[in-house]
Amino acid sequence: MKKKEKFPKIQSLKQKKSLIKKSCLRWQKTNPEPKCELYYRTPYQLLISVVMSAQATDKSVNKCMKPLYEQDLTPDQVLKMEEAGIFEKIKSIGLAKTKSKNIYALTKILIKEHNYRIPSDRQELQKLPGVGRKTANVVLAEIYNQPTLAVDTHVYRVSRRLGLHREDKPEKVEDILTQIIDEKFLPAAHHWFILHGRYTCKAIKPNCQECIIKDLCPSLELFMT
Ligand code: SF4
Repeated sequence: MKKKEKFPKIQSLKQKKSLIKKSCLRWQKTNPEPKCELYYRTPYQLLISVVMSAQATDKSVNKCMKPLYEQDLTPDQVLKMEEAGIFEKIKSIGLAKTKSKNIYALTKILIKEHNYRIPSDRQELQKLPGVGRKTANVVLAEIYNQPTLAVDTHVYRVSRRLGLHREDKPEKVEDILTQIIDEKFLPAAHHWFILHGRYTCKAIKPNCQECIIKDLCPSLELFMT
């Protein structure tokens, strides 16, 4: 049976704020302008890629979409393709059927109701098919630089290992993190968490030896013993 990961004690609010501030300062020093690893050239393309990235890696989405984006894929072209045409282009990605349906439907709405513009309002964004809170947060942060933080698997795991929460629901984690992270570090903190989780604090065998926040991390001893 797979051994269940142990998590550290939850820290006090003061400790949490101090830990996250120090972590952000270190991440900022090594990577002052973190970037989204999804490839895109327009806000519309970013939205499509974020919708596509549900249960798929950024790498696989980029592989599939980069050639289309380099030919300046537009909402009008997507509309012309119709659902079946979109499916043909994205069938290498998981849940391609649902995703092509959503991409077609959201494109129609963007053209008809938003005059091709990606809404900067969370409620409007979340009304689009296939756009949940996480996707809306990524788009708001990346395109409109709004202080939001999308909680994906990396953000969830790293913040839990840092003793910042013991929650199951991403929305609760989002609330906790947005309360303790200084607004000036949002939305870069979203990227720092993801990059830290993807390349250092990996799900299996985190690389604690090389971790630049190991002296701050309450999980260090759990992994080093
Ligand atoms: S010390 Fe280990 S568990 Fe803690 S943040 Fe770094 S990599 Fe993750």
